[in-house]
Amino acid sequence: MRIAWFDDHRLGVVRDGRVHDVTDALAELPMPDYPTEHGDLLIAHLDHMRPVMETLSKGARSKPITEARFLSPVAHPTKIIGTPANYLKHVAEAEADPEIITARFKGKVEEQGLFLKAISSLVGPSQGVTLRFPDRRTDHELELGVVIGRVANNVSGEEALDYVAGYAIALDMSVRGPEDRSFRKSVDSYSVLGPWLVTADEIADPDALDLKLTIGGETRQDSNTGHMILSTRRQIAWASSFYSLLPGDIIMTGTPEGVGPVKPGDVMHCAIEGIGEMDVPVRAAG
Ligand code: MN
Repeated sequence: MRIAWFDDHRLGVVRDGRVHDVTDALAELPMPDYPTEHGDLLIAHLDHMRPVMETLSKGARSKPITEARFLSPVAHPTKIIGTPANYLKHVAEAEADPEIITARFKGKVEEQGLFLKAISSLVGPSQGVTLRFPDRRTDHELELGVVIGRVANNVSGEEALDYVAGYAIALDMSVRGPEDRSFRKSVDSYSVLGPWLVTADEIADPDALDLKLTIGGETRQDSNTGHMILSTRRQIAWASSFYSLLPGDIIMTGTPEGVGPVKPGDVMHCAIEGIGEMDVPVRAAG
């Protein structure tokens, strides 16, 4: 199933090139008293909600996906986890370019550890990226986004994919410079997720997906998640050995080679096999 938030926070099921409005399904979502558990309610109750959404989608109002404004398919993650330096060719390009990487960030993913991005940075493709620091280099990083479906604490690599709700296209937008990654990559709108969540049952192997980013018809990034140093399974297991992963948590699994700066007016066309495509506009602040 393909699940989306769109327009004015409508809930949708995407099928046959159309988004079907199943917002009424939210009446079936258990609403706990404040203070609630951490995590995304819809994702946490997805097993219960899927048949409700499926039934409602038949005969629901719908519109072509080209006419929908897609928001992040996860409304309330508790964390956005970033996996750095996870493609060898990206490690090589980063170490060859002092603008991308400074001494403290040298090395592959195992030496770097994971980082966290502020959840306030999360947007969907229709909202676009707003460049807050026009005088600083700001790069696109296209990545496979993994969305956690249930609490994962110290899970093994073998069982890791059982904890995945689904997958989406992710952009880990990055201001280049010497500061900590969590600071440079947490600017408002610098975490893009979209255009919808493809549930895990539709992706047989997340480590064998083509991914591509073009701007104005020019190919910038073109790779396959099979080139990741740490597989999706190992990233989930490793992350869960440090902190519990909660429903809705997002892992941005690392970017392949070809990162580069964006400027106002650019439209990042992003595609990942088995998920779909999205256009993300870049704007100037103010
Ligand atoms: Mn990244």
